[in-house]
Amino acid sequence: MAKEKTLEDLFLDTLKDIYYAEKRILKALPKMAKGAASPKLKKGFEKHLAQTEGQVERLEQVFEIIGQPARGKKCEAIEGILAEGEEIMKSYKGTPALDAGLISAAQAVEHYEITRYGTLRRWAETLGKRNAVTLLERTLREESETDELLSQIAEQANRSAEAGQPAGRAGSGRRGKSTAALSGAEGAANGR
Ligand code: FE
Ligand code: FE
Ligand code: FE
Repeated sequence: MAKEKTLEDLFLDTLKDIYYAEKRILKALPKMAKGAASPKLKKGFEKHLAQTEGQVERLEQVFEIIGQPARGKKCEAIEGILAEGEEIMKSYKGTPALDAGLISAAQAVEHYEITRYGTLRRWAETLGKRNAVTLLERTLREESETDELLSQIAEQANRSAEAGQPAGRAGSGRRGKSTAALSGAEGAANGR
């Protein structure tokens, strides 16, 4: 008979999964920040990059709590989600829909992290690892806040994409291309 596997095994495997994912995200975020058209979105990605560095450290602390070496295990899900993001970046580069697409890709990442950290937190509770619960919860909150922030930025990005205007230029009320065309959006982008 196969060796009995327990919740402790699941916890460790999932911890390795998200550890791998966070390290991949660390590499992806600078590219996303560089790719973003609007300064707001750029800043959002940069802020989350700094947060992600802290999240990797927290995971290392959780490994320590359970007495295991911090080691990642390939997460196919994050590879796929990030590959989709790169695809969007490539095919929407220079278009008004770029930021809306980038945000959708970033939110897919955040939602993956949220499901992982939600599960890990619950399992840590069940296993009685109080300190791990605190650490995982802190990260879970950051991922949720990032998701919220992205939803806020998306409102403007979606309007720009819909109106066919460069990021951060669509009006909040009326839609349509006429205003952008009349004000010479491209020229203005290089102005003061
Ligand atoms: Fe994260
Ligand atoms: Fe995974
Ligand atoms: Fe995140």
